[in-house]
Amino acid sequence: MPFENYRNSRILVTGGAGFIGSHLCERLLKTGAEVVSVDNYFTGSRRNIAHLIANPMFEAVRHDVTFPLYIEVDAIFNLACPASPIHYQRDPVQTTKTSVHGAINMLGLAKRLKARIFQASTSEVYGDPLIHPQTEDYWGNVNPIGIRSCYDEGKRCAETLFFDYWRQHGLPIKVARIFNTYGPRMQPNDGRVVSSFIVQALRGEPITVFGDGGQTRSFCYVDDLVEAITRLMVTEEAVTGPINLGNNSEFTIRELAEKVITLTGSRSQLIFKPLPQDDPRQRQPDLTKAKALLDWQPKVALEDGLKETIAYFKRTLELA
Ligand code: NAD
Ligand code: UDP
Ligand code: UDP
Repeated sequence: MPFENYRNSRILVTGGAGFIGSHLCERLLKTGAEVVSVDNYFTGSRRNIAHLIANPMFEAVRHDVTFPLYIEVDAIFNLACPASPIHYQRDPVQTTKTSVHGAINMLGLAKRLKARIFQASTSEVYGDPLIHPQTEDYWGNVNPIGIRSCYDEGKRCAETLFFDYWRQHGLPIKVARIFNTYGPRMQPNDGRVVSSFIVQALRGEPITVFGDGGQTRSFCYVDDLVEAITRLMVTEEAVTGPINLGNNSEFTIRELAEKVITLTGSRSQLIFKPLPQDDPRQRQPDLTKAKALLDWQPKVALEDGLKETIAYFKRTLELA
């Protein structure tokens, strides 16, 4: 893999102070690239990138991508967007703006610079999927007017914009549909299932299972995802994607809760709460395309990734 291509390049990461973005910045710096993080700190935090600030190859810019950005870079990773339901539903209009106006601005920037650009799309473009596992040619089953729509439809429109900038302007694009990803630097209060369950277990609070816990997700450890993203950016094709990235080991939410209880040694009990509106029943990526194109596959088993994440939350919540 021509991973060395990043050396001597200046790379823009929007959402660079977020969970995935901060890991990506770290990885890119290790390749010898210069990295500029652009973030408005809506859901990210300066703490996520505090360890990078002293590095002369790293720069952190406070900026909202819904406004134009003039900067000189060689490649753009567009990750700016709140990703957890409680965060993206807090200001749903801003969520759509971030996906749509943000994509337009970053695509306009890439067009002026003739730079390749990566889009962090999502498995949510499949909605509550009617085929299983999900392949990239599935068009999805998405409610356009529900409480998740600001995120799902914003991301769908961003994909449309990426493909139109390619068709209309010949812009090199890389589009990944990322499935549920977890790991250190998730926020303890983001309401996502992995962070919530771990924090509840460590605090000895009840574990809040929504619905009967029979719904499924497939959880990818952040290091595996970042490896795939960095490989995707350097593929030779002018257009790559959309391509599913994630882990295809599927678990019910109840199984996840039980694993977290075992690994933390917690005495927490499960409590059952109503299933949120439009909550997808099952989700598992078909990774055939990613494996063939990127010579990649997820390596970190759920138990191992959970152990790392539990250790992180113990440290940050000072429960260690
Ligand atoms: P995150 O919330 O930790 O990171 C998003 C970052 O974007 C934050 O630092 C936030 O402050 C920043 N941001 C939000 N709006 C912005 C704006 N208008 N201008 C500038 N910065 C802005 O979430 P994450 O899990 O790291 O997700 C990163 C990307 O990956 C998102 O685009 C998300 O949709 C996508 N994704 C994540 C997952 C997952 O499971 N974590 C799954 C699918 C897709
Ligand atoms: N843009 C930007 N930085 C740049 C170039 C463009 O933020 O370096 C923004 C610009 O504000 C514009 C958007 O990207 O609204 C789309 O740019 P494009 O050139 O595609 O469209 P146009 O400027 O013709 O509307
Ligand atoms: N979930 C849960 N308890 C929680 C948080 C989430 O049972 O405290 C469930 C949620 O209903 C969904 C799954 O876990 O079925 C994954 O939720 P998350 O918000 O992490 O991701 P997404 O729904 O966007 O895949």
